[in-house]
Amino acid sequence: MLLLPAPVARPSSASLHFVVRVHRLRTLGLGLGALAVAGVFHQNGAAFQTWALLLFNGFLWPHLARLISSYSDDPQQAEMRNLLVDSAMGGIWVVLMQFNLLTSVLLLTMLAIDKISVGGWRFLRRSMAVGAAAGALTLAGCVLFGDWTWRLDSTMPAVISALPMLAIYPLVISTSTHALASQVRRQNRELERRAAIDPATGLLNRPSWERAVGRELALAQRHGRPASLLMIDIDRFKEINDGYGHPAGDEVIRATARTIMACIRDGDVACRYGGDEFGILLANAGVQAALATAERLRARVAATVFAGESGPSCTLSVGVAVASADVPDARAWIERADAALYRAKTAGRDRVWRATEGVAEPGLSSL
Ligand code: GH3
Ligand code: MG
Repeated sequence: MLLLPAPVARPSSASLHFVVRVHRLRTLGLGLGALAVAGVFHQNGAAFQTWALLLFNGFLWPHLARLISSYSDDPQQAEMRNLLVDSAMGGIWVVLMQFNLLTSVLLLTMLAIDKISVGGWRFLRRSMAVGAAAGALTLAGCVLFGDWTWRLDSTMPAVISALPMLAIYPLVISTSTHALASQVRRQNRELERRAAIDPATGLLNRPSWERAVGRELALAQRHGRPASLLMIDIDRFKEINDGYGHPAGDEVIRATARTIMACIRDGDVACRYGGDEFGILLANAGVQAALATAERLRARVAATVFAGESGPSCTLSVGVAVASADVPDARAWIERADAALYRAKTAGRDRVWRATEGVAEPGLSSL
């Protein structure tokens, strides 16, 4: 059994994933490449040591390379070095194949595809330099110590042995690239989703909600359909923090968010506006429907004792503003609802107020 030291620092899962991906491609690519090179060696004749090196490079090196990278402090960097070794070996094979035209071009093209897909043209240039240097040294050795000559042509068996690589490897590379591109698209979507969400409550955050409010206001004004905003603030929330601690305060915020979600319909959009303040955009809701929703929410939170029997309880103040032709933009609409919320606070809290033509008046609960 092979005993290896444990890695010093835990490498990131992304770099290990990279190692696994390169290992798969290398196992296939070098296996098929060895078959193609073997066809030329069979045609030209090759020394025992050359065959042994080919077997090592084609079938053992991919696994050794993976072990080296996995146990390295920086697997990604180690894998890049392994890729340069691949290029060096490519240069050596081209010379040992006596520049056989078909298989040399095939080998170099596949190696170039690997390099570009991993590190772009810059990495390709680096690996071409390494491959050329290794090839030049091999050529010098062959010319000095043997009777090396060019042999560009391929017999039919040599052509046939090159075909699997020619047909299979590009398909596998393009499949792998497509899978990678799909993964990047999925991750981008997930990043966009996370950027729009308040992590503590799972509701939309303020910027993305304000964009939704702007879109809904435009639709409401263009089609004359009703829409309403609720701005909600927890009453005397500081006292909950002071009396029960911040974690209990956090739980009240999360529970309020859950209650909000339970009180609204599918097309409505709720957000955590900031701190202990929330906003709800009610699509297709006129003033009566909005006041009813606000009152239902207010009553439900007022009746809740958070975190068990001895936990905190709280009330909400709510400001309501309906969309109308004279609301210039989302900001002004939100400000109207906020002004009504402020009036609900100053009128004693635990109540719903609505904005009407610049002034606020009590909502259903206070009528
Ligand atoms: P009012 O009835 O006037 O709203 O009184 P209030 O005590 O609720 O005052 P206000 O809304 O101005 O203060 C909200 C407080 O909420 C201030 C801040 O310390 C606290 N807070 C803001 N975000 C969080 C949070 O994520 N978790 C906790 N535990 N507290 C928060
Ligand atoms: Mg508050």
